[in-house]
Amino acid sequence: MEIFDSYELLDRSDLEELQAVRLKTTVYQATASNFYRNRLARSGIKVAHINHSRDIAALPFTTKEDLREHYPFGFLALPREKMVRLHASSGTTGSSTVILHTQNDLNVWADLVARSIHAAGVRSRDVFQNMSGYGLFTGGLGIHYGAERLGCLTIPAGAGNSKRQIKMLEDFQVTVAHIIPSYALHLSSVFDQLGLDPRSLHLRIMLIGAEPHTQEVRTRIQDIYGVKAYNSYGLSEMNGPGVAFECVHQNGMHLWEDAYLGEIIDPVTLEPVPEGIKGELVLTTLAREGMPLLRYRTRDLTRFIPGECPCGRRHRRIDRIAGRSDDMMVIKGVNVYPMQVERVLMSIPEVGQNYLIQLEREGYLDQMRVKVEIRDEYFVEDMRQLQKLQQKIAGLLREEILISPKVDLVEHNSLPNSQGKAIRVVDTRNKQN
Ligand code: AMP
Ligand code: ZN
Repeated sequence: MEIFDSYELLDRSDLEELQAVRLKTTVYQATASNFYRNRLARSGIKVAHINHSRDIAALPFTTKEDLREHYPFGFLALPREKMVRLHASSGTTGSSTVILHTQNDLNVWADLVARSIHAAGVRSRDVFQNMSGYGLFTGGLGIHYGAERLGCLTIPAGAGNSKRQIKMLEDFQVTVAHIIPSYALHLSSVFDQLGLDPRSLHLRIMLIGAEPHTQEVRTRIQDIYGVKAYNSYGLSEMNGPGVAFECVHQNGMHLWEDAYLGEIIDPVTLEPVPEGIKGELVLTTLAREGMPLLRYRTRDLTRFIPGECPCGRRHRRIDRIAGRSDDMMVIKGVNVYPMQVERVLMSIPEVGQNYLIQLEREGYLDQMRVKVEIRDEYFVEDMRQLQKLQQKIAGLLREEILISPKVDLVEHNSLPNSQGKAIRVVDTRNKQN
């Protein structure tokens, strides 16, 4: 195995020993913050109690609401003057949360990203186009410094302006792109409009993440661009990208366990679930001095994949994120996740690159309407054919989600597309009467 960082070579017992030491240090550092000083004192936890990674179970959880309540500086474990960067989460609900970093924290983060993208096969000779928004969103600067750290020629393209993105991909012979998956699908229709073939580029790798997406979307992206696409997971509360990343085997994302302590819990009972069972991912920073977070409830649903990865890394793998515990929709008493809908839609060849789920109220009943873009060649005048397609899609969706959604077929490129994370669900139930 070609490795980038010595932490990747650690075996389980060394990793766990390192985690124990780092956890103790982290808890000690955290007690310097207003928030944890009070929280830990209230729960009676002393640093001396933490001697093993499993001792984490005694610590209280931290939630997004805690971060909001102590916005902006209540979690700082070092003086504000030591902080050199601030990022915010792109949450669409409520006020935003901010994370601050020391220079040390930024160095650790850049190493983690460099290690991640190296695991996915990126090398220093690559030309790397970063199509994430540069700003408070961590996908811009976070990925950027990691790619530079690895030694790639790094192009801070930013988000949007699709024609310019395509020109840069061509002009600079870009070999690796970091791109949000919904935007990768959208960009392919711009290639179509320009009469260009995405497979004729020099691209060999796409790093896709920042939003939930299915295996079907990954397959589409790989087919459209003729690349390997690797799943990248992170959240601003844990720095951003570089938390968990797929290696070249594409079979789950290695969680970098020297820097993060991961747990999977039942989101209702808050107890750990058995190995291999899906639940909510809870993360603790093990290598952050400015703003350590203990047992942060990510709300992301996944599981640890049992067994070892053929790449030889012993850092455990998390499965593709199935959704967030708070994006579950309850329609007519049935629980539905947006990713179930995506999985069905993206496996239907006539379906184009975008869709939107709309939740409506009809009388006293909830109704799900799925707007689906159809590829040009199938968007024909013949009403009977379109009706047949509509029935086929509705039938396949019903098999998966067990309720009958309304299906609207719409023209290719007619649904709103976003340059950042896609909005897949619009809930109008409380706006109607
Ligand atoms: P933010 O902190 O605003 O960048 O948002 C982080 C959130 O984006 C995570 O908690 C996940 O819900 C989502 N996310 C990030 N990467 C992925 C990924 N690879 N797959 C699914 N969801 C992701
Ligand atoms: Zn691996």
